[in-house]
Amino acid sequence: MTKPVVRRSVLAIDAYVPGKSAAPGAARVFKLSANETPLGPSPKAVEALRALAPKIAAYPDGSATRLRQAIGAAHGLDPDRIVCGAGSDDILALLAHAFIEPGDEGIYTQYGFLEYRIVILAAGGVPVIAPETDYRASVDAILERVTERTKIVFVANPNNPTGTYLPKSEILRLADALPPHVVLVIDAAYAEYVRAEDYSAALELASTRDNVVTTRTFSKIYGLAGLRLGWGYGSAHIMDALNRLRGPFNVSAAAIEAGIEAVQDKAHVEAAIAHNARWLPFLTQEIEALGLEVLPSVANFIAIRFPGEAGRTAADADRFLTSRGLVLRAIGAYGMPQFLRLTIGSEEANRIVVAALGEFTASWR
Ligand code: PMP
Repeated sequence: MTKPVVRRSVLAIDAYVPGKSAAPGAARVFKLSANETPLGPSPKAVEALRALAPKIAAYPDGSATRLRQAIGAAHGLDPDRIVCGAGSDDILALLAHAFIEPGDEGIYTQYGFLEYRIVILAAGGVPVIAPETDYRASVDAILERVTERTKIVFVANPNNPTGTYLPKSEILRLADALPPHVVLVIDAAYAEYVRAEDYSAALELASTRDNVVTTRTFSKIYGLAGLRLGWGYGSAHIMDALNRLRGPFNVSAAAIEAGIEAVQDKAHVEAAIAHNARWLPFLTQEIEALGLEVLPSVANFIAIRFPGEAGRTAADADRFLTSRGLVLRAIGAYGMPQFLRLTIGSEEANRIVVAALGEFTASWR
């Protein structure tokens, strides 16, 4: 029997495989594989969900007006230039669909977030990879790959899974050099964690340039990954396109109500920032002291490189850690099979990871 024909560009997609979350047999499991916050959601967001429960027979506000106003107030942005989505994934896909005609090119960087490839292909586009140097995006490599068919460039800043980032001077250089017909998407899913003083380029550029948009998420520092909530900010021109394309109720009532509370709970966000500022250097230093290489990260996770010899590979480490209930993210799909990505966890989880890696590496010396 003839089957319906799936589009060729869809068959070119390798489905996104999330990190594992279970460690079968372990007495206690620490999930450190998805860059979630160890502090959990704001208690005010949880309260808002409880209050919403009896009202869920009603559709949400399709334009998420109160949520956009709350986000706008928290960040000093025009709510009319914010579009919310079911996770920032939703916004990334809308952007690709809005600007890519079949055969057009979309650029992302070598170790960039894998979703970019998927959304470019889903829109019928041709993914173009800009090589990185030392696991860092290269503005020159991106610019060298721009052609007349390039419609969109995705840069995660900071990037997942490397944790590296482009300073403001480099982001400005990229925005200035890109032709005006190319949309620059600065995916700032981990922006809140960045301590560097020059990290302000994304919102500034998205406020002032017609071809720049930045995306943010409630999945990371706000602790609402399970609700699926993200947003984009950019020119009226770009936001108008996203509003035409998005699902009429693409953000749930739960996400709206919890998001409003979460974005206003500055103390909760500050606590998460302080926690990360303490434990990111701790983990980096302790793991380096074991003789393992750690990529310099400004986010809430680190990529750890394991040696290639038998018994010492990332896959060996993954098995060893999983048997102890420590679930990290293997990132072979990113072309980094010798690395594991570790999310900064609770104090307890962080100390247990260091001890377990110490045990894993002890026999090497
Ligand atoms: N961008 C980056 C760089 C990410 O790491 C992630 C989450 N893995 C996302 C976007 C998507 O997050 P969400 O859809 O949960 O907002």
